[in-house]
Amino acid sequence: MRKKMVVGNWKMHGNLLENKQLLDAVISSLDGLHEDLIAVCVPYLYLPSVQNQLQSSSIAWGAQNVSQYEKGAYTGEVSASMLSDFRCQYVIVGHSERRMLFGENNNVVAEKFVAAQNAGIIPILCVGETLEQREAYNTEQVIEQQLKSVINLAGIESLNKAVIAYEPVWAIGTGITASPEQAQDVHTFIREGLAKQNSNVANQVIILYGGSVKGSNASELFAMPDIDGGLIGGASLIANDFITICRAL
Ligand code: PGA
Repeated sequence: MRKKMVVGNWKMHGNLLENKQLLDAVISSLDGLHEDLIAVCVPYLYLPSVQNQLQSSSIAWGAQNVSQYEKGAYTGEVSASMLSDFRCQYVIVGHSERRMLFGENNNVVAEKFVAAQNAGIIPILCVGETLEQREAYNTEQVIEQQLKSVINLAGIESLNKAVIAYEPVWAIGTGITASPEQAQDVHTFIREGLAKQNSNVANQVIILYGGSVKGSNASELFAMPDIDGGLIGGASLIANDFITICRAL
């Protein structure tokens, strides 16, 4: 059986006080009471304080981005080994906001995926189509290409130490959630595509859904056979909502 997982993606939100209050609430409701994987991916600067608060709990932490480079003259970048200094277990790579607003293409995303794994960090690889691509019936082609770049560089077995997140761009932060059936269809497509290359990898890889998941719709999404949990943006900042979503696993 695959594990189930919920990951909060705080994006560029929070401050020391709000973060502490949010995590206090999450810890007191969830710590030790779940068998599932729960993690929060936070802005770089808050990693030390989040580590401090979560290190003796069952909740994991990680970052939202990482440099593809190991070290050197890369002003403003943060390397995977720096993230592992703060015991990050996860890092999001290829989020659509990084792809669209910061020009990260499939090759860069693949390099970041490898950089994370080389430092012993589990990459959460985001894939997903825009509305335009969906309406042009290109969803499968887009996702296939996004996965292929990683598999070509890192090999299919690299997915044994990774998480995939299907995030349709049109559902992110818009309040429009993919229906459970729409999401399941794409998750099946991903899993079947991987199965053609390696059935063990396909069976065991966690595939999260992301895009306007809330306390009110998490259960029906997580009930689908190929949806192993969620990557949660906006609702991960609201303690009650995030806790409800974790409980929906
Ligand atoms: P959302 O964001 O839950 O606010 O739609 C999800 C994400 O971007 O990971």
